[in-house]
Amino acid sequence: MLSYRHAFHAGNYADVIKHATLVALIDYLALKDKPFVYYETHAGAGNYDLASAEATKTGEYQQGFASLARASGLPDCLQRYVSLIDTCQQSNPGHYPGSPRIASLLARQQDQLRLCELHSADSQKLASLFSRDKRVQCFAHDGYEKIISLLPPACRRGLVMIDPSYEVKTEYLLLVRQLEKMVRRFATGIYAIWYPVVDERRTEDMLDAIANTGIKNIQRFELGLTRDHQQPGMTATGMLIINPPWTLKDTLGESLRWLSTQVYTGGYWRADQWVDE
Ligand code: SAM
Repeated sequence: MLSYRHAFHAGNYADVIKHATLVALIDYLALKDKPFVYYETHAGAGNYDLASAEATKTGEYQQGFASLARASGLPDCLQRYVSLIDTCQQSNPGHYPGSPRIASLLARQQDQLRLCELHSADSQKLASLFSRDKRVQCFAHDGYEKIISLLPPACRRGLVMIDPSYEVKTEYLLLVRQLEKMVRRFATGIYAIWYPVVDERRTEDMLDAIANTGIKNIQRFELGLTRDHQQPGMTATGMLIINPPWTLKDTLGESLRWLSTQVYTGGYWRADQWVDE
C-alpha cells in the first residue's frame, strides 16, 4: 500500500536540491552528441498542480522553489535550474515539473527515458504526460526490479535517478541491495540517489552501507535546515552521486553554500568525496 504522494511536496527544498542536481547531470551528459538513457526508479506523476488541495495543504513549495525564484545573485548552477523551471511555468502556469519532465526537457532527440512509477493514479498521469513522446517508456512496475532488468543501456551512457519516498523503514537497506545489483550490471553509469535526514541514524547507516559495498567514486551533497537532527520532520536533504562529472563537486557545492548563507540560514551544507575513485 503506497500512501506517499509527491503532490504534497512538489517544489519543496528537497526538490530544489534534487532537481538542480539533475539539471547539472543531464547538461553534462548532453555535452557529447552520443545518446544517453535516463532511468528513473521512482518517477512520480511528472507534473504537479500548485493549486491542488495537496500542494496548498503543506505550502512546501513556498519554502522551496518560490523562495529561490524571489532571490537574486544565484550561482550559475542554480540560475540554470530556476530558468528552466520558469520556462516550464510560462507554458504551464501554476504547475511545478517533476524530475521526469525536467529530464525530458533536457534530453535530445537521440536520448531515451525509462520511467517507473508504482502508484496507480500517478503512473497513469505519468503515462499520459508522455503519451506522444517516442523517446519515453513508462512502466507501472517496481522501479528497482524493472530498471535492473533494463541495464546496461546499449549506448553505454546513462543516468539512473533513485528517488524513493522512504515510506517504510526497510527501504533504506533495500535501496543498498538494489543499487549494488544495478552497479554490477552498469558500472560506468552515473547514479543519483536522493536521501532525507528524518532519522539521522537510519540515514547514516544507509550511507555507510553504500560506502561498504565497494562501489567507488561517490560524492555526497547535503543541505541542512538545522544542525539539530532531533527536531521533528526532515531536517536535511541530500544527494549521493556515483561517477559524478568532475565539475560537480565545485558547482553544486557552491550552490549549497549559497543556499545555506542566503536562503536557508542557520543550517549547514556539505559537498565532499564520500568514497574515493
Ligand atoms: N522523482 C519524483 C520527482 O522528483 O518529481 C518524485 C518521486 S516521489 C519522491 C517517490 C515516488 O515513488 C512516489 O510517487 C511513489 O508512489 C513511488 N514508488 C514507491 N515505491 C515504488 C516502487 N517500488 N517502484 C516504483 N515507484 C515507487
